This record gives sequence, structure tokens and C-alpha cells, in this order.
Amino acid sequence: MLTCRDLNQQHASDHVDGCLSARKRLAVRLHLVLCSNCRRFIQQLRRVKSVLRERPDVALPDSEAKPLAARLQAALREQQKNSSG
Ligand SMILES: [Zn+2]
Repeated sequence: MLTCRDLNQQHASDHVDGCLSARKRLAVRLHLVLCSNCRRFIQQLRRVKSVLRERPDVALPDSEAKPLAARLQAALREQQKNSSG
């Protein structure tokens, strides 16, 4: 079973991009079924990536980028705290 930390640090980005192997994708999906924290994290990551895809050469204005970055960092910290037991 994947830990939250494994998922966030190694697999989350590839999962959102759809580039995981079948075996890893299954492991990630299983984790997401059981873990609402990581579901939220993946949703946020998806949102960030879709913004970046739509506007690849336009930086987010600080008013949007800063709170988003802060939320993602907080989510990541939360995950790490939860998975350290
Ligand atoms: Zn998790």
C-alpha cells in the first residue's frame, strides 16, 4: 500500500498527467479510494496543472498564485504529518 508521502512526492504528478504504469495507477487509485486527504490533493494538483496547460506562457497573477501555492504547501505538510506515523 502506498503511503501518502509516496503518493504525493512520487506519483501524484504522473497520475494527473496519466503517465503511470498500470500497476502504479492501480495502487494510486486504491489509495485515493481510501484517503480523502490525497483525493483533495490530487484535485488541487489537477487544477493547477490545467491552469498551467491553458496558459503555458502566462504566469498566474500573484493574487491567484500565492494563495494556491500556500494551499498546496499546507496540503502537502498535512499529508506528510499524517503519513509519518
Ligand atoms: Zn493519502
